[in-house]
Amino acid sequence: MKLKKKNKYINKKKPFFFYFKKIILKMYKLECSYQTYAWGQPSQKSLVTKILRKNKIEIDESKPFAEYWMGTHINGPSKIKLENETKLLSEHINGDLPYLFKVLSVEKPLSIQLHPDKDFAKKLHESHPDIYKDSNHKPELFIALDDFELLFGFISIDEAIKKVEMYKNEFNLKEADNFLNEKTVENYESLIKKIIFLTKEEYELIIKGLLQSKETKEDSLIKRLYNYFGLDLGIIVSMFMNHFFKKKGDSIFISANYPHAYIHGNCMEAMACSDNVIRLGLTPKLVDRKNFEIIIDKFFPDMIYDENIGDPKIFEHISVNKDKGIITYDKKGIDDFKLQEIEISTSDDILIEKKSILFILEGNIKINDMICEEYNTIFVENEITHAKVELIEGCNKAKFYIINSK
Ligand SMILES: [Zn+2]
Repeated sequence: MKLKKKNKYINKKKPFFFYFKKIILKMYKLECSYQTYAWGQPSQKSLVTKILRKNKIEIDESKPFAEYWMGTHINGPSKIKLENETKLLSEHINGDLPYLFKVLSVEKPLSIQLHPDKDFAKKLHESHPDIYKDSNHKPELFIALDDFELLFGFISIDEAIKKVEMYKNEFNLKEADNFLNEKTVENYESLIKKIIFLTKEEYELIIKGLLQSKETKEDSLIKRLYNYFGLDLGIIVSMFMNHFFKKKGDSIFISANYPHAYIHGNCMEAMACSDNVIRLGLTPKLVDRKNFEIIIDKFFPDMIYDENIGDPKIFEHISVNKDKGIITYDKKGIDDFKLQEIEISTSDDILIEKKSILFILEGNIKINDMICEEYNTIFVENEITHAKVELIEGCNKAKFYIINSK
């Protein structure tokens, strides 16, 4: 009786093939790109290597493995494995995905960097298309996968004063004296700008002084960074940035114009499809002090991050559905991506939106009969309103991510 009713409904509203078409699930495995940047972890221990090996991608073991890229960005496009062929995902969907999803394995510090907002990114691309190849902004979501060390935002005025007092002899600068005399954000900004434009001779002299100072301990960040980069201006800038040790699961939303530098550990990173970076130091890559200074000039008070006070720009992006084991990372005003972290210990029904990428971080699961093993990446082309997720025998827990645009 029930079935009859349903058929009647189908016949009335839409031809039957419409419903038939709708239940064809377009899920495909992806073959993803990777980056062997110098700061990556050696292949023996890198999480990126483990992911690549599991997906049977041949690698040169002598290289460091820094990043695993899931998306269509031209610098590392993913390929889609269709029934009879493997081709670029961008060709298959006839365009780009608005997001990029990454796994990072960081052994050595990355550059001190920031990502300009949409307007400035566009201007940079127009004026220097050779350097700034992307015209897009790059809001980033960082999630630690283990103990993760990073630099983030400038320290508070009080903290900065302590640093300048501690190294009074080394910071023999008019701007440092002004800041000590009058503890204002304007004087703090002037000091940072002065530091950014120190001549090579000037900043090398300061760093040599810092290294010899009795205040600088053997295991200090100053000494560690010196061992990696030598007399790099970034060492002085790093002293005025928050030095964080994040735990597994901690996340930060890195809004536009926030200086940051990853130092060590594994993390997931979701971002807009962009590679737009302005670097200030701690890198052999191009350092662009002029454009970094332009952003400081515009936004310096917003670039100060005081952990005791917090900043909604950074942390208001998480909602938790405990019953379902779902954490949603969704930033208001950012439409390029939304990320879900799903942990299951029994079978469950979930919704997967169209043009999503799934990454299995732990465990082996079956999604509507498709076997998805640990470290597999899957592209879901059409929306699945009731994707049945089951644990594969022998596996009692699984964790995976789903990213899609909004
Ligand atoms: Zn970044």
